[in-house]
Amino acid sequence: YNEVPTGFPEPGKTTIQDDSQTIELENVPLNGGILVKTLVVSIDPYMRGRMRDPSVKSYSPPYVIGEPLNNFGVGKVLRSETPKFKSGDHIYGILLFQEYNVVKDLAEFRLLENKEGLPWTVYVGVCGMPGQTAYYAWKEWSAAQKGEVAFVTAAAGPVGATVVQLAKADGCKVIASAGSDEKVAFVSSLGADAAFNYKTTNTSKVLQMEGPINIYWDNVGGETLEAAIEAAQPVSRFIECGMISQYNTKTPYPVKNITSIVSKQLRIYGFLVFSMHGKYREQFYAEMPRRVASGEIKYQEDIVRGLDKVGEAILDVQTGRNKGKKVIIVADD
Ligand code: NDP
Repeated sequence: YNEVPTGFPEPGKTTIQDDSQTIELENVPLNGGILVKTLVVSIDPYMRGRMRDPSVKSYSPPYVIGEPLNNFGVGKVLRSETPKFKSGDHIYGILLFQEYNVVKDLAEFRLLENKEGLPWTVYVGVCGMPGQTAYYAWKEWSAAQKGEVAFVTAAAGPVGATVVQLAKADGCKVIASAGSDEKVAFVSSLGADAAFNYKTTNTSKVLQMEGPINIYWDNVGGETLEAAIEAAQPVSRFIECGMISQYNTKTPYPVKNITSIVSKQLRIYGFLVFSMHGKYREQFYAEMPRRVASGEIKYQEDIVRGLDKVGEAILDVQTGRNKGKKVIIVADD
């Protein structure tokens, strides 16, 4: 537990559970902040990128060896010294992976009104950062026309599954890949027209049969990106959301047909979700919880209980053992 992983993170080595510290809930000073009981924390693919040498710059801060992990979570305010939140409120923001958090910097924390009465786990999935990712970038760049063909990868996860449904709602034909037959069945149940298991079926062949494509939602990069470039119509839109096939490898896959980006005039849109909050966040919260509560947008969660499961959960998401949005329930409401 004192080194940065070079391959997959190892539970019990890369991450450990430490029960040695306690805080006095009654007396802990808040200094104008809030005391929060952690209800839910999210496990996301980008957490792997935060396990890096601190000298390597990236868009999100590195985790510090010896300090608690942190990520998006939902908590309940137990005590407050700020007018922004009151005791009993539920909030969403970055929490330390601890049973209780004292939060002083509240700028990025949001009050969850949850008028729809959704489970709190949903607010780190389809109604949280992954849902925002799908919603913002699909709206911004898909330019989807009825009858166009969209290809979505990692389609059973919270980002991919939401994109599949947004693409269907816009009248696209959806080709979708996932890493097990069970995940493929889920993706088909969302309305995907041609869902397939990329581990047992050749992606290029499927794209040849079901394509060509107009929109590629990339969650995986590598060979699949190469296949998508091959199957793209001229002026296709490539929404570059993630490249998880490259996150745990030291030797990146060399995409061979990269020059086709020029000859096919492909539109390549790389993005980070937080840079788009200003434009879309309020619209997202006004719409998504309602659409989820009505059943119009479906989701799948892979829930485990207890912070002792964090290490395994991180590895699950990197290896594809998760079945839907990976969430840790730390405490009931
Ligand atoms: P998921 O819950 O879908 O988990 C990741 C999935 O990736 C795994 O379940 C697995 O599914 C798949 N996967 C793992 N390894 C590989 C591999 N070698 N090749 C192909 N697929 C693999 O995650 P999310 O929905 O939360 O995130 C999806 C993508 O979106 C990630 O790449 C993530 O980094 C990216 N993202 C980007 C954001 C941005 O701002 N740009 C914000 C949020 C997420 P399977 O079994 O189907 O292989």
